[in-house]
Amino acid sequence: TPNIITVDGPSGAGKGTLSLLLADKLGWHILDSGVLYRVLGVAALKHHIALDDELKVAQLARHLDIDFKLNPSSQEVEPVLEGDNLAGLIRTDDAGQAASKVAVIPAAREALLERQREFYRLPGLVADGRDMGTVVFPDAPVKIFLTASAERRAERRYKQLKNKGVDANMRALLDSIKARDERDRTRPVAPLVPANGAFIIDSSELTITEVLTQVLEFSAK
Ligand code: C5P
Repeated sequence: TPNIITVDGPSGAGKGTLSLLLADKLGWHILDSGVLYRVLGVAALKHHIALDDELKVAQLARHLDIDFKLNPSSQEVEPVLEGDNLAGLIRTDDAGQAASKVAVIPAAREALLERQREFYRLPGLVADGRDMGTVVFPDAPVKIFLTASAERRAERRYKQLKNKGVDANMRALLDSIKARDERDRTRPVAPLVPANGAFIIDSSELTITEVLTQVLEFSAK
Protein backbone atom coordinates (compact mmCIF):
# COMPACT_ATOMS: atom_id res chain seq x y z
CA THR A 1 0.00 0.00 0.00
CA PRO A 2 1.35 3.42 -0.84
CA ASN A 3 2.25 5.86 1.89
CA ILE A 4 -0.64 8.24 1.70
CA ILE A 5 -2.54 10.21 4.31
CA THR A 6 -5.71 11.84 3.02
CA VAL A 7 -7.04 14.96 4.73
CA ASP A 8 -10.59 15.88 3.68
CA GLY A 9 -13.15 18.28 5.06
CA PRO A 10 -14.91 21.59 4.51
CA SER A 11 -13.02 24.82 3.84
CA GLY A 12 -11.43 26.52 6.81
CA ALA A 13 -11.34 23.48 9.10
CA GLY A 14 -7.53 23.58 9.27
CA LYS A 15 -6.71 20.97 6.61
CA GLY A 16 -4.00 23.10 5.04
CA THR A 17 -2.13 23.69 8.28
CA LEU A 18 -2.55 20.08 9.40
CA SER A 19 -1.28 18.81 6.04
CA LEU A 20 1.79 21.06 6.19
CA LEU A 21 2.60 19.89 9.72
CA LEU A 22 2.13 16.23 8.79
CA ALA A 23 4.21 16.50 5.60
CA ASP A 24 6.91 18.31 7.54
CA LYS A 25 6.94 15.76 10.35
CA LEU A 26 7.06 12.77 7.97
CA GLY A 27 9.22 14.34 5.28
CA TRP A 28 6.47 13.58 2.74
CA HIS A 29 5.19 15.48 -0.30
CA ILE A 30 1.97 17.39 -0.27
CA LEU A 31 -0.96 17.77 -2.66
CA ASP A 32 -3.21 20.79 -2.17
CA SER A 33 -5.92 19.64 -4.57
CA GLY A 34 -8.03 22.74 -3.96
CA VAL A 35 -5.42 24.72 -5.88
CA LEU A 36 -6.17 22.70 -9.03
CA TYR A 37 -9.88 23.54 -8.77
CA ARG A 38 -9.02 27.18 -8.03
CA VAL A 39 -6.78 27.36 -11.11
CA LEU A 40 -9.51 25.76 -13.20
CA GLY A 41 -12.05 28.31 -11.95
CA VAL A 42 -9.67 31.19 -12.63
CA ALA A 43 -8.86 29.77 -16.09
CA ALA A 44 -12.58 29.63 -16.94
CA LEU A 45 -13.04 33.26 -15.86
CA LYS A 46 -9.94 34.26 -17.86
CA HIS A 47 -11.27 32.62 -21.03
CA HIS A 48 -14.81 33.93 -20.49
CA ILE A 49 -16.21 30.44 -20.09
CA ALA A 50 -19.36 30.27 -17.96
CA LEU A 51 -18.60 28.37 -14.75
CA ASP A 52 -21.58 26.09 -15.36
CA ASP A 53 -20.76 25.31 -19.00
CA GLU A 54 -20.03 21.62 -18.48
CA LEU A 55 -18.59 20.88 -21.92
CA LYS A 56 -16.26 23.86 -22.09
CA VAL A 57 -15.10 23.66 -18.49
CA ALA A 58 -14.37 19.94 -18.88
CA GLN A 59 -12.42 20.60 -22.08
CA LEU A 60 -10.48 23.34 -20.31
CA ALA A 61 -9.72 20.93 -17.46
CA ARG A 62 -8.39 18.32 -19.89
CA HIS A 63 -5.99 20.81 -21.47
CA LEU A 64 -5.16 22.94 -18.46
CA ASP A 65 -1.70 24.43 -18.92
CA ILE A 66 -0.62 24.56 -15.31
CA ASP A 67 2.75 24.50 -13.66
CA PHE A 68 4.02 24.83 -10.10
CA LYS A 69 6.92 26.99 -9.09
CA LEU A 70 8.68 27.19 -5.77
CA ASN A 71 9.05 30.76 -4.58
CA PRO A 72 12.52 30.74 -3.01
CA SER A 73 11.85 33.60 -0.60
CA SER A 74 8.48 32.48 0.80
CA GLN A 75 9.15 28.74 0.24
CA GLU A 76 5.59 28.53 -1.10
CA VAL A 77 4.59 26.60 -4.18
CA GLU A 78 2.90 28.96 -6.61
CA PRO A 79 0.58 27.90 -9.43
CA VAL A 80 1.37 29.19 -12.91
CA LEU A 81 -1.44 29.21 -15.48
CA GLU A 82 -0.41 29.57 -19.13
CA GLY A 83 2.75 31.31 -17.97
CA ASP A 84 0.97 33.68 -15.55
CA ASN A 85 1.85 33.33 -11.88
CA LEU A 86 -1.44 33.15 -9.96
CA ALA A 87 0.03 33.40 -6.45
CA GLY A 88 -1.60 36.76 -5.76
CA LEU A 89 -5.15 35.77 -6.59
CA ILE A 90 -5.45 32.03 -6.05
CA ARG A 91 -6.39 32.40 -2.35
CA THR A 92 -9.09 35.02 -2.86
CA ASP A 93 -12.70 34.30 -2.02
CA ASP A 94 -13.64 34.83 -5.68
CA ALA A 95 -11.23 32.08 -6.73
CA GLY A 96 -12.68 29.81 -4.02
CA GLN A 97 -16.23 30.42 -5.19
CA ALA A 98 -15.25 29.87 -8.84
CA ALA A 99 -13.46 26.66 -7.81
CA SER A 100 -16.49 25.28 -6.04
CA LYS A 101 -18.68 26.05 -9.06
CA VAL A 102 -16.49 24.23 -11.59
CA ALA A 103 -15.97 21.44 -9.03
CA VAL A 104 -19.60 20.31 -9.37
CA ILE A 105 -18.98 19.27 -13.02
CA PRO A 106 -18.31 15.50 -13.11
CA ALA A 107 -16.26 15.55 -16.35
CA ALA A 108 -14.05 18.33 -14.98
CA ARG A 109 -13.35 16.27 -11.85
CA GLU A 110 -12.61 13.24 -14.00
CA ALA A 111 -10.13 15.29 -16.05
CA LEU A 112 -8.21 16.29 -12.92
CA LEU A 113 -7.97 12.76 -11.49
CA GLU A 114 -4.71 11.70 -13.12
CA ARG A 115 -3.02 15.02 -12.44
CA GLN A 116 -3.76 14.59 -8.77
CA ARG A 117 -2.51 11.00 -8.66
CA GLU A 118 0.75 12.10 -10.27
CA PHE A 119 1.59 13.96 -7.07
CA TYR A 120 2.25 10.64 -5.35
CA ARG A 121 5.97 10.17 -4.89
CA LEU A 122 8.12 8.37 -2.39
CA PRO A 123 8.59 8.60 0.49
CA GLY A 124 4.90 9.50 0.68
CA LEU A 125 2.09 11.99 0.17
CA VAL A 126 -0.26 14.02 2.32
CA ALA A 127 -3.30 14.77 0.14
CA ASP A 128 -5.53 17.68 1.13
CA GLY A 129 -9.00 18.17 -0.38
CA ARG A 130 -12.63 17.08 -0.36
CA ASP A 131 -12.53 13.67 -2.06
CA MET A 132 -8.95 12.51 -1.44
CA GLY A 133 -10.05 9.49 0.61
CA THR A 134 -13.29 8.76 -1.23
CA VAL A 135 -12.25 9.11 -4.90
CA VAL A 136 -8.67 10.07 -5.67
CA PHE A 137 -6.78 7.80 -3.25
CA PRO A 138 -9.38 5.28 -2.05
CA ASP A 139 -6.65 2.82 -1.01
CA ALA A 140 -4.87 5.25 1.30
CA PRO A 141 -4.13 3.47 4.58
CA VAL A 142 -4.81 6.57 6.71
CA LYS A 143 -7.79 8.84 6.10
CA ILE A 144 -8.64 11.93 8.10
CA PHE A 145 -11.85 13.97 7.97
CA LEU A 146 -11.29 17.32 9.63
CA THR A 147 -14.30 19.49 10.30
CA ALA A 148 -15.42 22.41 12.49
CA SER A 149 -18.54 24.52 12.89
CA ALA A 150 -19.13 27.07 10.14
CA GLU A 151 -18.91 29.87 12.73
CA ARG A 152 -15.50 28.71 13.94
CA ARG A 153 -14.21 28.39 10.39
CA ALA A 154 -15.41 31.89 9.50
CA GLU A 155 -13.81 33.27 12.67
CA ARG A 156 -10.45 31.69 11.83
CA ARG A 157 -10.57 32.96 8.29
CA TYR A 158 -11.42 36.41 9.66
CA LYS A 159 -8.37 36.39 11.93
CA GLN A 160 -6.09 35.14 9.13
CA LEU A 161 -7.21 37.98 6.88
CA LYS A 162 -6.87 40.53 9.68
CA ASN A 163 -3.32 39.35 10.33
CA LYS A 164 -2.54 39.89 6.67
CA GLY A 165 -3.96 43.39 6.94
CA VAL A 166 -6.93 42.50 4.72
CA ASP A 167 -10.26 44.09 5.54
CA ALA A 168 -12.81 41.35 6.16
CA ASN A 169 -16.47 41.12 7.00
CA MET A 170 -17.50 38.32 9.36
CA ARG A 171 -21.05 38.05 8.01
CA ALA A 172 -19.84 37.87 4.39
CA LEU A 173 -17.22 35.25 5.27
CA LEU A 174 -19.80 33.09 7.02
CA ASP A 175 -22.19 33.35 4.07
CA SER A 176 -19.39 32.45 1.65
CA ILE A 177 -18.35 29.41 3.70
CA LYS A 178 -21.94 28.20 3.94
CA ALA A 179 -22.51 28.63 0.20
CA ARG A 180 -19.37 26.62 -0.57
CA ASP A 181 -20.29 23.92 1.99
CA GLU A 182 -23.71 23.56 0.43
CA ARG A 183 -22.29 23.17 -3.09
CA ASP A 184 -19.60 20.73 -1.95
CA ARG A 185 -22.05 18.58 0.00
CA THR A 186 -24.89 18.38 -2.51
CA ARG A 187 -23.05 17.90 -5.81
CA PRO A 188 -23.83 14.68 -7.68
CA VAL A 189 -20.25 13.45 -7.96
CA ALA A 190 -17.73 13.23 -5.13
CA PRO A 191 -19.87 15.02 -2.56
CA LEU A 192 -18.08 16.03 0.63
CA VAL A 193 -18.53 13.06 3.00
CA PRO A 194 -16.09 11.22 5.26
CA ALA A 195 -14.43 8.24 3.54
CA ASN A 196 -15.05 4.76 4.92
CA GLY A 197 -12.75 4.23 7.86
CA ALA A 198 -11.85 7.90 8.14
CA PHE A 199 -10.83 9.30 11.50
CA ILE A 200 -13.28 12.17 12.02
CA ILE A 201 -12.06 15.12 14.06
CA ASP A 202 -14.03 18.23 14.93
CA SER A 203 -11.47 20.98 15.44
CA SER A 204 -13.98 23.55 16.76
CA GLU A 205 -12.61 23.32 20.30
CA LEU A 206 -9.10 22.07 19.52
CA THR A 207 -5.81 23.77 18.74
CA ILE A 208 -3.96 22.65 15.63
CA THR A 209 -1.33 21.02 17.87
CA GLU A 210 -4.03 18.96 19.57
CA VAL A 211 -5.38 17.95 16.17
CA LEU A 212 -1.90 16.92 15.01
CA THR A 213 -1.35 14.82 18.13
CA GLN A 214 -4.65 12.97 17.61
CA VAL A 215 -3.88 12.34 13.95
CA LEU A 216 -0.40 11.00 14.70
CA GLU A 217 -1.86 8.71 17.37
CA PHE A 218 -4.48 7.47 14.93
CA SER A 219 -1.99 6.85 12.11
CA ALA A 220 0.37 4.94 14.42
CA LYS A 221 -2.34 2.30 15.07
O1 C5P B 1 -9.68 23.64 -0.44
P1 C5P B 1 -10.02 24.85 -1.23
O2 C5P B 1 -10.80 25.86 -0.46
O3 C5P B 1 -8.81 25.47 -1.88
O4 C5P B 1 -10.95 24.33 -2.42
C1 C5P B 1 -11.67 25.19 -3.24
C2 C5P B 1 -12.89 24.47 -3.78
O5 C5P B 1 -12.47 23.45 -4.69
C3 C5P B 1 -13.73 23.76 -2.74
O6 C5P B 1 -14.74 24.59 -2.19
C4 C5P B 1 -14.33 22.60 -3.51
O7 C5P B 1 -15.53 22.97 -4.13
C5 C5P B 1 -13.31 22.31 -4.59
N1 C5P B 1 -12.52 21.12 -4.30
C6 C5P B 1 -13.04 19.90 -4.62
N2 C5P B 1 -12.32 18.77 -4.42
C7 C5P B 1 -11.09 18.83 -3.88
C8 C5P B 1 -10.54 20.08 -3.51
C9 C5P B 1 -11.28 21.21 -3.72
O8 C5P B 1 -14.17 19.83 -5.10
N3 C5P B 1 -10.41 17.71 -3.73
